[in-house]
Amino acid sequence: ARLANQIAAGEVVERPASVVKELVENSLDAGATRIQIEIERGGHKLIRIRDNGSGIGKEELTLALSRHATSKLKSLDDLENICSLGFRGEALASISSVSRLTLSSKPKTQDAAWQAFAEGRDMAVQVKPVAHPDGTTIEVKDLFFNTPARRKFLRTEKTEFTHIDELIKRIALSRFDVSITLTHNEKVVRQYRAKTDPAHAITRVAQVAGKAFAEQGLHIQSGEAGLQLHGWVLPVGSVNTTQYTYVNNRMMRDKLILHAIRQAFEEVSGVQELPGFVIYIDIDPRQVDVNVHPAKHEVRFHQGRLVHDFILQAIKQVVVPLQG
Ligand code: ADP
Ligand code: MG
Repeated sequence: ARLANQIAAGEVVERPASVVKELVENSLDAGATRIQIEIERGGHKLIRIRDNGSGIGKEELTLALSRHATSKLKSLDDLENICSLGFRGEALASISSVSRLTLSSKPKTQDAAWQAFAEGRDMAVQVKPVAHPDGTTIEVKDLFFNTPARRKFLRTEKTEFTHIDELIKRIALSRFDVSITLTHNEKVVRQYRAKTDPAHAITRVAQVAGKAFAEQGLHIQSGEAGLQLHGWVLPVGSVNTTQYTYVNNRMMRDKLILHAIRQAFEEVSGVQELPGFVIYIDIDPRQVDVNVHPAKHEVRFHQGRLVHDFILQAIKQVVVPLQG
């Protein structure tokens, strides 16, 4: 079974950033409002994620590390209405098969904390008591220590960390209500404080995407029940070209969406170069297929034409034509 995990790991765990993605999504699924991410040496040496989420009970600890163990899917019907980020129960098993993984956790309802440890694919999972506050800490050490072929594909420390940083930015722009700290080699690199007041969202947008968003960002808010768009676009000609688009709060790079945005700018200003934007599209989940491929960041809208024109009109309302 551990070998199957290593094979599955090839799909889930491509690089340190993919480990961070799975772990942070688990923390979010667990309802965490505070997530601390500590990275050493671009993640080859250490990835440590602490959260204040629901925790994992002693009985579930070893189960959490086994394949297809998910607490999030109870029946096939759930597959249709899935709103948690993970549901396949593969991530922890896969990650632990190619690293030295320690899982420490305490649910609020449990008096003591417990820790499970798994190393590579041949090691049995061990469980012992540990001191730990409410929530979960997962430590992934020596990623790919037992899969040299994959380790060879790791890039420099700096490159791997940049991937992690970019991933955390995307997540920070999808969960304003969660405070996130990112540390590299013991230095705090990012500190995103929780913004529970919507009026403060722009502060985080500016922190992630650049201060031009706070200074010149044009706010958009458009739509009706079932199809809405909000966010910020920079004026035409802005040197900041940071672009983020979300569909139902998941980061996407979708052709149809980008085409609609480009067309809006072009129709108003005649300019093809896009300035930066951070745009959120919320659509009735029954009108869209998102789980085509989790890594592709593409969606399929059932009524593509309608969505395209809606985005086009919404953006055209705020884009200002070039002067002169
Ligand atoms: P999935 O997220 O697809 O269910 P994972 O392998 O990522 O599968 O996680 C396995 C299980 O471990 C989850 O279903 C969840 O019950 C538990 N788990 C993992 N991380 C956390 C966490 N940070 N807090 C609480 N529970 C967690
Ligand atoms: Mg998961």
